[in-house]
Amino acid sequence: MSKRKVVLVGCGFVGMSMAYSLMQQDSGVDELVLIDVNHDKAEGEAMDLSHGLPYINKKIDIYAGDYADCSDASVIVVTAGAAQKPGQTRLELTAINTRIAKSIGESIKKSGFNGVIICASNPVDLMTFVLQQASGLPKKQVFGSGTMLDTARLRYLIGDFLKFNPSNIHGYILGEHGDSSFVPWTYVYVGTKPLIKYLEENNLDLENLLDIYEQARDAAYIIIEKKQATYYGIGISLARLVSVVLNDDDAIIPLSVYQNGEFGKKGLYIGVPTVVNREGVKEIITLELNEFDQKKFDNSCDSLTKILDEIVIPILNES
Ligand code: NAD
Repeated sequence: MSKRKVVLVGCGFVGMSMAYSLMQQDSGVDELVLIDVNHDKAEGEAMDLSHGLPYINKKIDIYAGDYADCSDASVIVVTAGAAQKPGQTRLELTAINTRIAKSIGESIKKSGFNGVIICASNPVDLMTFVLQQASGLPKKQVFGSGTMLDTARLRYLIGDFLKFNPSNIHGYILGEHGDSSFVPWTYVYVGTKPLIKYLEENNLDLENLLDIYEQARDAAYIIIEKKQATYYGIGISLARLVSVVLNDDDAIIPLSVYQNGEFGKKGLYIGVPTVVNREGVKEIITLELNEFDQKKFDNSCDSLTKILDEIVIPILNES
């Protein structure tokens, strides 16, 4: 990858938190283009961010642009669209954000872009589907942040409960980035020890796991209730994801990727452990789910497929 050019579409809380974090990580980005329907906002953000460059000792060309700037970019991150209001579910944003994602995907297609699209707009599993369809890019080049943030919340909460560094907690939240997500607990480890075994050996009640999952699942509702939006956690997650792609890292992250039967379902995007690199999705890491977890995965897929069929696909088919 000769040019490390990143385009951000949607310069709101989430997008700008990603941009701010990306500047400070060792991502290697050398050009950052900001696109927003409110061009003045993109211009103001580009000026503001650029003024920090002398103190992070990096040379990054940051400017407000338009879709023509996508043609030679490596990565496009889409964070445009309506965000959840207090009490609102992610799925309630479907119709409005499908129209926005569709128009963004079509503009990206016209630019001739042939890199990787990362979607964070909610409901992320459905908006990733829309961007892939509207951009016409191969499915492996379009994926969503999926349950990456949910998983970060889970790892943080388990680490906090056990007083371990969260980077040594391994495991995933899978499924929809939303209320039907789930944790396959038999695949959660502290260091290399199964978490359930660790709890049993230390006489810790397994009931704590349900409480931890609920805290991770409901975190966005609580944060939005308290400060109207969530953005630092997802901003840092997205910046890491962009770095993984730019640096061809082959990292394993739970992302919203197109399903071809790897976990038993086909034809939708949903969160599963994924190997990502500069080409996009390299591989899905399959897990043998027990009957209980497989049912949860199937339910999560079925609820997304229903909304795809009833709301998303009819809008995609509108001329
Ligand atoms: P925000 O309102 O602060 O920003 C949205 C931005 O999108 C605004 O600047 C707006 O002008 C821009 N925009 C709207 N339509 C556009 C278009 N057609 N083209 C270009 N730009 C357009 O919202 P936010 O808090 O930054 O949230 C953005 C999205 O990210 C929401 O859908 C939110 O639900 C989602 N989100 C996802 C996660 C995740 O884990 N995936 C976490 C938090 C938020």
